[in-house]
Amino acid sequence: MIYNPQKYAIADERMKPFIDENEIHDILNNTQPTKEQVREVIAKSLNKNRLSMHETAMLVNTTDPELIEEIKQGAKTLKEKVYGKRIVLFAPLYVGNYCTNNCKYCGFRTTNRKQVRTTLSDEQLIREVEALEENGQKRLILVYGEHPKYNAQFIADSVRTVYKVKKGNGEIRRVNINAAPMDIDDYKTVLEAGIGTYQIFQETYHKETYHSVHLAGKKADFDYRLTGLDRAQEAGIDDVGIGALFGLYDWRFELLSLIRHVNHFEACYNVGPHTISFPRIKDASEYDIDDKYKVSDEDFTKLVAILRLAVPYTGLILTAREPENIRREIMSFGVSQIDGGTKIEMGAYSKKEETQNLDKEQFKINDNRSLGEIIDELLENDYIPSFCTACYRTGRTGQHFMEFSVPGFIKKYCTPNAMLTLAEYMEDYATPEVKEKGEMVIKKNLDEMDNDKIKENLLERLNKVKNGERDLYF
Ligand code: SAM
Ligand code: SF4
Repeated sequence: MIYNPQKYAIADERMKPFIDENEIHDILNNTQPTKEQVREVIAKSLNKNRLSMHETAMLVNTTDPELIEEIKQGAKTLKEKVYGKRIVLFAPLYVGNYCTNNCKYCGFRTTNRKQVRTTLSDEQLIREVEALEENGQKRLILVYGEHPKYNAQFIADSVRTVYKVKKGNGEIRRVNINAAPMDIDDYKTVLEAGIGTYQIFQETYHKETYHSVHLAGKKADFDYRLTGLDRAQEAGIDDVGIGALFGLYDWRFELLSLIRHVNHFEACYNVGPHTISFPRIKDASEYDIDDKYKVSDEDFTKLVAILRLAVPYTGLILTAREPENIRREIMSFGVSQIDGGTKIEMGAYSKKEETQNLDKEQFKINDNRSLGEIIDELLENDYIPSFCTACYRTGRTGQHFMEFSVPGFIKKYCTPNAMLTLAEYMEDYATPEVKEKGEMVIKKNLDEMDNDKIKENLLERLNKVKNGERDLYF
């Protein structure tokens, strides 16, 4: 298919496909860094500077185990410097698995006759959201197959339905979207429903590979997908998430392409994507991908550490596709968001379904722990689990999304807001043991606060939460 910008009413330089495969291969093939150079690049990142594609390639091409350890250590140090201790929690909510595309890695592919197809009715959607709220979730990502049923109006309606559900003290305060790319007017329809981030993963930035795994449907158009988030920006969605599905092509190429995608955004819109996702391919019903580019645990942890160093200010999302041990290690590199209590079969939250049936789901997940168990582990490891949604609700997004770039932002907003949302969770949903651990973490973080004014303000609000007030934020 030939990409025709006019077709999408976009005659703009910014909408042009921007991946130059030769450039990326050249950089990868011609970068052989010395030890000193690798250390200089790590030091540059630790000073909170973005890395160029060439500098990123130096880290990618590092094979010396001692230096790889320094890269990982660098990512950990950067995490402490930039991100503080909070980790934001969310849950995916699959709305429907009808799909007209034929992606060879996905259980929802149109040719998969074994897949049981469902779209949640309004009543079912409400039941799912109630079940999620009863667990303490406040942030969801709604996920859809690509099908005429799931047009912009349908997506906007489902977002509105989710926001209306209030169970006990529960409510969903931020709904993100992972769905197919759209035309500009359709994005506007979805935006009006009050979405947070719009995520589209390119899957692979390597065109030939892309065509070999996306066999049919609208998704077979590489360029339409690649420019999908440009159209979102044009429609006013300034909070977007990019990603690559690792395992389809050489991870080194995908990693550099993600950096190229960030560069494109920064050059065109003065702001990078809000988040990067790095799903690693997992088993699925009718899965048909060979193992040639399978990413080992060793390479995967290395690539996430490099990503952290390359884009110090971009949120990184790690999902339950990965098993507990990998999640634990990668989290220490400065992942900003993880899912907890994840279920991806439609209707599974309210049915409290424990085991996966791949003929009803997109792929296999490998961390089946409940939200409570995840929060317990985070607290044990000194993180502050957060359900904060303050930035998006106060308009601190897009170009104005100054998170991390304003000195003291984390101390002023993120840490106090994480503590307030944790306190709510402890009052409403935690077991006595988790509540006790949460109290210790809040006390410790209060003791460490050096700004008396913020501390006083926070203490006052924490007391209000204890007395039943909800949704307090800075
Ligand atoms: N249908 C929409 C689309 O393709 O853009 C929504 C995407 S899908 C429901 C969410 C993401 O899951 C995909 O973009 C892909 O990266 C990932 N995914 C699909 N199959 C996978 C598999 N077998 N293992 C891991 N991740 C997978
Ligand atoms: Fe459909 Fe998305 Fe699965 Fe492809 S990845 S088959 S578009 S749901």
